[in-house]
Amino acid sequence: MVGFIGLGIMGKPMSKNLLKAGYELLVFDFNKEAVADVVSCGAKSANSSAEIGANCDVIITMLPNSPHVRTVALGEGGISDTAKPGTLIIDMSSIDPMESRSIGEELEKKGIELMDAPVSGGEPKAIDGTISVMVGGKKEFFDKYFELLKAMAGSVVYVGELGSGNITKLANQIIVALNIAAVSEALTLAAKAGADPELVYQAIRGGLAGSTVMDAKVPMMLERNFKPGFRIELHIKDLNNALNASHMVNAPLPLTAEVMEFMQALKADGCEKEDHSSILKYYEKIANI
Ligand code: NAD
Repeated sequence: MVGFIGLGIMGKPMSKNLLKAGYELLVFDFNKEAVADVVSCGAKSANSSAEIGANCDVIITMLPNSPHVRTVALGEGGISDTAKPGTLIIDMSSIDPMESRSIGEELEKKGIELMDAPVSGGEPKAIDGTISVMVGGKKEFFDKYFELLKAMAGSVVYVGELGSGNITKLANQIIVALNIAAVSEALTLAAKAGADPELVYQAIRGGLAGSTVMDAKVPMMLERNFKPGFRIELHIKDLNNALNASHMVNAPLPLTAEVMEFMQALKADGCEKEDHSSILKYYEKIANI
C-alpha cells in the first residue's frame, strides 16, 4: 500500500493518477473534501500521518513548504512515530534543499529513508499525468520507484544526492518567475502602445520568444483569470529559498531578487492567493493601465 499525504491543487490529481495506474493508496489531508474526492476514486483514508506510517512502506508527501514536511515526517503524530525501519518517504513538495537534507538526516537516525522529488508543470499537467519530476536521493530507490513516479509524470529524471531535487526545482522556479515577468513586461508595452495583446501573443508564440510559460499563462492573463494554479505566496517561498541558497554559495541572483520584489508588492496588495500570472497586474499598476 502506498501512502499519500497532501491532497491539494497538485496532490489530488497526482494521487488519482496513481489510482488509475492500479496502485492501492492510503491518503491523509486535513481537508476532508479533498480526502472524500480521492476516496471516491478508490483510495482508503487514514486519520493521521502516523496511521499512514504504520501501514505503508512507501509514502508520498505533497505539502506546501518545509515546516509542513518536517511536521508530517518528524512531528508528534507524524510518520516517524510509527513507521518501520526501511520505510521510504518520497517528498514531492518544493522545499528548501537544506531542510530536505536536514530532515533526511533526522529520519535516517530512525531508519527511515527520504528522497526529494519536487515537480514542475502545474495543475493541468498534474491532471494529465505529464508533470516533470526531479529526483534527489539514493539511486537504488530512484530505480526501485521509477515506475511509481512515472505513473504521475511525463518525465522523471535523477539529479543526484538528497537535496538535488529541490536545488533543480529552485532553478526551475527562477526561470518560470523571470519568464512570467518578461511576458508581462512585453504585453504591458504592447497594450500601452496601442497593439492588441491577444494578437501580439498569437504573432510571437511560434517564434523564439514562445515558451511553455507563455502558452500556460498568457491565456489566463487575457481572460483576467488569476485563479490558482500556482499561488504567488508559494512562488515567494521558492524565490526566498533560491535567494537563501544563492547567499550560501555566493551565486548572486539579481533578476530573481527584483522579481521577488514584484511578488512582494502583489502580496502587499492582497494578491498572494492569486496565480503567479497576476505579475501582469504589477506591471499594469506601474504603467497606469
Ligand atoms: P496546496 O496548498 O493546494 O496543497 C497542500 C495540501 O497539503 C493542502 O490540501 C493541505 O490541507 C495539506 N496539508 C498541509 N499541512 C498538512 C499536514 N500537516 N497534514 C496533512 N495535510 C496537510 O498546494 P499545492 O499547490 O498542491 O502545492 C504543493 C507543493 O507543490 C508546494 O510545495 C508547491 O510549491 C509545489 N508545486 C505546486 C504547483 C502548482 O502549480 N500548484 C506546481 C508545482 C509544484
